[in-house]
Amino acid sequence: MGQDKMTDLVIVGAGMVGLTLAALLADSGLSIRIIETREFDADHALSWEQAQREQGYDSRVSALTVASQQVLTVAGVWSQMEQMRLMPYRAMDVWDGEGTGHIRFDCTELHEPCLGHIVENRVTQSALLQRLAELDHCQLSVGVALNELSEPDADGFRTLTLSNGEALQARCVVAADGALSNTRRLAGIGMWEWDYGHHAIVTTVTTEQPNQATCWQRFTDDGPLAFLPLANPHLSSIVWSTSPDHAKALMELDDEAFCQALEQAFEGRLGRVTHSDSRYVLPLRQRHARHYVKEGFAAIGDAAHTIHPLAGQGVNLGLMDAAALAETILDGLEADVDWSAEYHLRRFQRARQGENLQMAATMEGFKRLFDAEGVMPRILRNAGMTWMNRLTPVKNHIVQQAMGLSGALPRLARRPVKE
Ligand SMILES: Cc1cc2nc3c(=O)[nH]c(=O)nc-3n(C[C@H](O)[C@H](O)[C@H](O)COP(=O)(O)OP(=O)(O)OC[C@H]3O[C@@H](n4cnc5c(N)ncnc54)[C@H](O)[C@@H]3O)c2cc1C
Repeated sequence: MGQDKMTDLVIVGAGMVGLTLAALLADSGLSIRIIETREFDADHALSWEQAQREQGYDSRVSALTVASQQVLTVAGVWSQMEQMRLMPYRAMDVWDGEGTGHIRFDCTELHEPCLGHIVENRVTQSALLQRLAELDHCQLSVGVALNELSEPDADGFRTLTLSNGEALQARCVVAADGALSNTRRLAGIGMWEWDYGHHAIVTTVTTEQPNQATCWQRFTDDGPLAFLPLANPHLSSIVWSTSPDHAKALMELDDEAFCQALEQAFEGRLGRVTHSDSRYVLPLRQRHARHYVKEGFAAIGDAAHTIHPLAGQGVNLGLMDAAALAETILDGLEADVDWSAEYHLRRFQRARQGENLQMAATMEGFKRLFDAEGVMPRILRNAGMTWMNRLTPVKNHIVQQAMGLSGALPRLARRPVKE
């Protein structure tokens, strides 16, 4: 075997979170290698226009918070994303389908131009790939998986064996390979994990009435149903979380029957649902890594934690992880300490684990409250929503959380203070 290739940092997974970390480290002077199993043709991934022409709207979208917008601005991609396609949303309207509870958040009450943006995952990923293609410090290998990962040697280097037979030596390995992270498993980090008992159906739908730049969410008996506004005012991306049996039945319906079922479940808020694109179904599980770091190792994004999509926070937490880890590494380089040592990487873990666990607990509480049957939970839900809707400070606190502006934000996620 020839000499192993030496790299400062290997990021496993070219999803939104792994790519953001690489872009945030553009000026670090570190050599970075990204490993991605998908066989996507790098040129195709770079060509947004081609993807748009051939594939229309991506069925996977994310509600990106103001804090995530800031991180992507620092990563050098937000203006490119604006040129591609994204949709600012100005209001959120949430109601309990089984009662009278209702709460509405509007950006005008907060003197903000919007509450966040609905962005197709493909837009974020394409903009990041374009940015990384301009940078010399970063090399992307696609169609390759990580097969083996050694413990650090005496000099602190881990050896990675890839599926193409290549061997790499890295000072630090970052698992950004999503919910089923093999990299985290190879590093010997266990998970707390349980099933939400929900499957989510996602697709793009056409509605008779315009989406009003509003995120709509109805809590049904079986789970939350969200309509997220897209740039075309008659299009919305839906996330319908429901029991596995109900999801299976909905997936078996033809398009016309599915549109009818959706319109009924949504109480016809946007008039008739006239068209639905291809539907995809995803099982929803809560996962949380017991640790995020080891010597020469860190886990970020879905590789470290997954939560229910009902508050649209998953990738936002992942982008905060990327910002906090980039910050930890950059601070270590500036202070001339061993930035890949476990004692140093624990700063990143301390910054993020509490925040992520708190969000997971909030989602669990929401899910249980809205799952619970009977008169008392219903009274609590309805009275709670109505009370919150009237009480400005409580409402402001919730919306600050939804915009990603509360809690201990990484430096790279804070908006510059206006002069
Ligand atoms: C229905 C639904 C709706 C959602 N809506 C929202 C929302 O509105 N807002 C929000 O913030 N979040 C939302 N989320 C969550 C969000 O989609 C995820 O948190 C986000 O995609 C995670 O990004 P990631 O980069 O960590 O992982 P991923 O997107 O999973 O990327 C991981 C990458 O690693 C690659 N990979 C996997 N294994 C390997 C390997 N062994 N070697 C190399 N590469 C590998 C994969 O191919 C992939 O490219 C939603 C999730 C669901 C299920």
